[in-house]
Amino acid sequence: MDLETLRQHLDEDERVALAAGGDSPNWHQPDPEREHGRIEDDAADVVTYDESAPSEAQAAHISRHDPARVLRWVKAARQILERHTRSSPTSCYHCARGRYEDCPDVAAVASVYGDTDG
Ligand SMILES: [Zn+2]
Repeated sequence: MDLETLRQHLDEDERVALAAGGDSPNWHQPDPEREHGRIEDDAADVVTYDESAPSEAQAAHISRHDPARVLRWVKAARQILERHTRSSPTSCYHCARGRYEDCPDVAAVASVYGDTDG
């Protein structure tokens, strides 16, 4: 995956997380023992109701991967990319691997988006 495509994935994650989270990006299960499917944001607005879906495991997963977490991921990934791409438009000198395609850290970030070539 080239850097431009990787940056586009991060931009899209950020855009979607900001739209979903608004001013209240932290989601949680207020009472997972009795209403595992109910997920609320910090303003107590409902994200999902406790109905036949999501399952208990899915609800726990959703609440752990809220917009705030996605925004933290995007920030961390951008910091990693900045460290590995600031010295050259084509090569990573941070870890002395040469081309970005050979940089294990850039490849690790790209793998989140399904690129496992690196
Ligand atoms: Zn590198």
